[in-house]
Amino acid sequence: MIKENIDYINGQIIKHCERVGRSSDEVVLVAVSKTKPMSDIQKAYDCGQNIFGENKVQEIKDKQPKLPKASWHMIGHLQTNKVKYIIDKVDLIHSLDSIKLAQTIEKEAKKHDRIMDVLIQINVAKEESKFGISVNETESFIKKVGSFKHLKIRGLMTIAPYVVDAEENRPIFRKMKEIFIDIQNKNIDNVDMGILSMGMTNDYGVAIEEGATMIRVGTGIFGIRN
Ligand SMILES: *Cc1c(COP(=O)(O)O)cnc(C)c1O
Repeated sequence: MIKENIDYINGQIIKHCERVGRSSDEVVLVAVSKTKPMSDIQKAYDCGQNIFGENKVQEIKDKQPKLPKASWHMIGHLQTNKVKYIIDKVDLIHSLDSIKLAQTIEKEAKKHDRIMDVLIQINVAKEESKFGISVNETESFIKKVGSFKHLKIRGLMTIAPYVVDAEENRPIFRKMKEIFIDIQNKNIDNVDMGILSMGMTNDYGVAIEEGATMIRVGTGIFGIRN
C-alpha cells in the first residue's frame, strides 16, 4: 500500500501543479512517519522517498540512526532542552517559534560546527492551540533570528486547521504565500526564503495550488495512526 500511496501523491502533486501552471519539481514531499515503525519507513525509502518528518525528539533519536542516509526533518514543537538530542540528526527544523529556541539552536549548532536550516512557524489561522509566531510579529522575529550565525532561515511553515473541506484552508495558504513573498522582497540578511512548508493529507492539493514548495503528508502515505 505504501508504494501505491506514494505513487498516488506524486501524481496528485503533478496534477495540482499543472492546474496552476507550476512545475512539479518545485514541490518536495515530506513523508510524515511519526508513530510508524522502521519497516514502513524502509518501504517508503525503497520507493525513492528520502525525506521523513517526525514531531517527537525521541522518535528522531531512535529512527535516524537506523536510516542515516535519509533526510530527517523536525516538524513538531521543539522544547529548548531537547535541541541537543537532534542537532546532529536533522537537516531542517520546521518549527522555530521563539527567540529562546533560536538561541538554543544557535548554541548547539555552534558546538557541532554546523549551520542548522530552519523554517519559521507562523500561526496564520490564529488558533490558540497552535504554536507559531503571529503574522504581525513575523518580520521583526525574522530580523532578530537573521543575526544568528549558526542558523539559516530557509522559509516559512504553517499548520492549517483540520477541516473536512480543504477549500476552507485556501485563504490561509494564500495569506502564507503573501507573507512569504513580502519577506522575500525585503532581502533580510541571512534569510533565504525558498521553502514554504504547508499542506497535509487533507489539504495538500489546495496548498500546492496556493504556492507550497514542501508538503507534509503522513496518513496519506502510511495510513491512519493509532
Ligand atoms: C502529523 C503532522 C503532519 C501530517 O499529518 P497527516 O494529516 O497525517 O498528513 C504534518 N505536519 C505536522 C506538523 C504534523 O504534526
